[in-house]
Amino acid sequence: MALEVVRVDSVEAAAALLASDGGARFIGGGTIAVRDVNYGDGSVSRLVLPEGLNLDLIQVKAGKATLGAAVTMAKVEVHAQLGFLKPVAHSIGGPAIRAMATVGGNLFAPYPFGDFTVAMLALGAAVTVEGPEGPQTLDLEDFLSRSRDPAEIVVSLAFDLPNALRFTKVIRRRPHGAPVLSVAAVLPIVGGVVSGARIAYGAMAPRPMRARAVETQLEGRPLDPATIALAVKQATMGCSPLTDPQASAWYRTEVLPVHLQRLLSA
Ligand SMILES: Cc1cc2nc3c(=O)[nH]c(=O)nc-3n(C[C@H](O)[C@H](O)[C@H](O)COP(=O)(O)OP(=O)(O)OC[C@H]3O[C@@H](n4cnc5c(N)ncnc54)[C@H](O)[C@@H]3O)c2cc1C
Repeated sequence: MALEVVRVDSVEAAAALLASDGGARFIGGGTIAVRDVNYGDGSVSRLVLPEGLNLDLIQVKAGKATLGAAVTMAKVEVHAQLGFLKPVAHSIGGPAIRAMATVGGNLFAPYPFGDFTVAMLALGAAVTVEGPEGPQTLDLEDFLSRSRDPAEIVVSLAFDLPNALRFTKVIRRRPHGAPVLSVAAVLPIVGGVVSGARIAYGAMAPRPMRARAVETQLEGRPLDPATIALAVKQATMGCSPLTDPQASAWYRTEVLPVHLQRLLSA
């Protein structure tokens, strides 16, 4: 089948095109979408390339960061005010991938990918989308739990700057590889106890997920060895990992508590 490349100069035009043509695919960096086409994905007849949409801007102001959906991992890696995200962005592919891979595309990355999305979940990010219903802002967790609307375009991700973000990614092939699993955590301490912890996992379910049982165990307690031991007992609650070439579902379940324990104790 012939493949058409369409350039669009507004988010609305792109959303309208995607709504009217089931064979059209929006392209972020293309590290997944273009590869799929090259590997013979016959469901795609049009590649929709954004041009001059200003989706590649980063704004950090008044304790809040907003990342345009087309911001690349390479751009995040070197941003002076986003140092806490550097290890996350740097863990994604090699330099050539990071120069193209976008934060918007990462939301749709197939299992076991989605490491940046895991960090965004731990940061409590909100997603702004443009679609047939017009612009909408959703909690990232709600966004990930819905089925994908093919006519919807992610415009940006926004989150409050954290005091610190903890992140770990288990890989089999160094220096970069698809994740066996990843864990991100924001652990605010107020008055000596954990208050409002957010912990997220990658590759422990078909989509990145919150570790709510662990968060509940930590809440209102000092982040000491006794609390961590209690929380780690809940590590795999709600998880449903898959088996793939990186690891079996069994292996992922076995090693998650070890890595969570290390991350919380760091
Ligand atoms: C060799 C290699 C290594 C990789 N390593 C990792 C890794 O370690 N960790 C990881 O998480 N990922 C990894 N990836 C996967 C991928 O590169 C990243 O997840 C990347 O962030 C995807 O973004 P993209 O812009 O390239 O997506 P694209 O390929 O452009 O798009 C992917 C999907 O998202 C949709 N999409 C893109 N942008 C938008 C938007 N703004 N609105 C709506 N839909 C959109 C597309 O339509 C498509 O369905 C790797 C890929 C390769 C090829």
